[in-house]
Amino acid sequence: EWILSNGEIVKEQDLEISKEDRGYQFGDGIYEVIRVYEGDLFTATEHIDRFYQSAEKIRITVPYTKDVFHKMLHDLVEMNSIDNGQVYVQITRGAAERNHQFPVNVEPVVVGYTKSVERPVAFMEQGVKATLIEDVRWLRCDIKSLNLLGNVMAKQQAYEEGYFEAVLHRGDTVTEGSSSNMYGIKDGVVYTHPATNLILNGITRRVILEICEEFGIKVVEEPFTKQQALEMDEFFMSSTTTEVMPVVEISGHTIGNGTPGKMTRKLQQAFEARIKLGVIS
Ligand code: PMP
Repeated sequence: EWILSNGEIVKEQDLEISKEDRGYQFGDGIYEVIRVYEGDLFTATEHIDRFYQSAEKIRITVPYTKDVFHKMLHDLVEMNSIDNGQVYVQITRGAAERNHQFPVNVEPVVVGYTKSVERPVAFMEQGVKATLIEDVRWLRCDIKSLNLLGNVMAKQQAYEEGYFEAVLHRGDTVTEGSSSNMYGIKDGVVYTHPATNLILNGITRRVILEICEEFGIKVVEEPFTKQQALEMDEFFMSSTTTEVMPVVEISGHTIGNGTPGKMTRKLQQAFEARIKLGVIS
């Protein structure tokens, strides 16, 4: 397997990571996950832009132009013959003697690799169950940070209770999922948390909002409460790997009639049309 290591594509066994890499010690870095459909990077420009934005927000400078970076990711996918899968890529502030303050004259460390992944078709057809969990993360969830402890703890709790995903809430307000964005549909209107510091503005979210606009579906980007979430006609989540994923139960409450809703189906199909595949009937 080929991996991306500091601007070069090398054999995996040639990767060397320092014990004092700041990603390893502090989670001092950011990352992206980009979907590959039939050998093509899906919404690559948007993911690459967000990678550079996240890096800038924590004052890391990506040491290549976006075009060069894009080409590296493209070459990596090609060299590993990835058909359907994903690219994971991260940048850390680099390796230096362990001190909280930024090190000086230290190069950032970039690592990327690919993986084959099937689309979660069965879940997309049947829908999944999710559970409300308090969002105890920091106040810069707009940054795709390597610090994912709050997300990891929430997902693990959901998983142990038999749920596919955590619906995070700050007090009464639903924010997003542990690794996804959340949406409710009531009387034909799509509700989702606005893209503030409290959520990650998903690339899938942006595609979905574009589709809504195309279809003339009204979207209200305003926070909704836990109670409102339970009373939605339809509910779904989205992410790079789960696409448009129907949520049919939240914390034991059935949403609608317990099957994926009509509008959710429509959005799934429109999303699928954008990736030029036809799996869901
Ligand atoms: N929110 C969080 C916390 C995430 O980790 C992710 C991505 N895994 C998302 C939302 C969805 O973002 P995207 O659609 O860009 O994958």
